[in-house]
Amino acid sequence: MKRVQQLRHGQAMHWVGDGFPVRTFFSYAEPLPFSPFLLLDYAAPNTFAKGTKPRGVGPHPHRGFATVTLALQGEIAHRDSAGHGGTIGPGDVQWMTAARGVVHEELHSDRFTSDGGVLEMVQLWVNLPARAKMTPPSYQDLRADAIPTVALPGEAGSARVVAGTLLGATGPARTVTPVELWDVTLRAGRPTVLPFRQGHTTLLLVTRGEVVVAGEDVVPANALAVLDRFGTKLVLQAKGGDARVLVLGGEPIDEPVVGHGPFVMNTWPEIRQAVDDFQSGRMGRLE
Ligand code: MN
Repeated sequence: MKRVQQLRHGQAMHWVGDGFPVRTFFSYAEPLPFSPFLLLDYAAPNTFAKGTKPRGVGPHPHRGFATVTLALQGEIAHRDSAGHGGTIGPGDVQWMTAARGVVHEELHSDRFTSDGGVLEMVQLWVNLPARAKMTPPSYQDLRADAIPTVALPGEAGSARVVAGTLLGATGPARTVTPVELWDVTLRAGRPTVLPFRQGHTTLLLVTRGEVVVAGEDVVPANALAVLDRFGTKLVLQAKGGDARVLVLGGEPIDEPVVGHGPFVMNTWPEIRQAVDDFQSGRMGRLE
């Protein structure tokens, strides 16, 4: 049974561009055991007034990993130099594998901008193994209706399986190395046992309510729990009211991580190459 090894409350809120007020729970700048994950930003619910110009982040590059964006509330529009684009709304997930490089922008959608409302989102960076870092970029637009929902044992709630397999349901996300991403809603007071892959990094981001792990370890809202990698049982229970928790799992990638801004590679020469390729326009341009 997995126990909580570390509880994190995230850094002070900061703005990503002018659209996303996030807390960063971890990043590749810290030598911590989150592999294959490189960064986790969470924008808790925030109300935006009606506007005319979409807020967000203008054109910027990525190389060497995938950015995974979950829209929990509100709408986010994406456009990249590989010709991919789309708008994601509540329950939708965008899995953008930058690999050898893209330039993209991430903005509030036109509709959200003009209507205003509550925005809540998560962005997760998932590393790629060295063999896949220089492959062509790809884009997966994972709509809420394509993400299977499974009932949890003990009538404890439900889980939306975005990536990996849970209780017979397999998520639609195609990943290079094994990754689990489950969006779990827990009903108060009902414990449930979820099977987990042995040896996988295991993280919980509680976005609503309070969750008890293994019957003892309390994880409050707006906190990230780092659990044991060993063990094959994840025992969760919502305390007080219902809870929502993102469960992240993955096979660690045992390779050097060298990151600089939006580039994460294995060596410094590869980082210098990435900067040069971006500046020379070899990661493409946004038309
Ligand atoms: Mn980006």
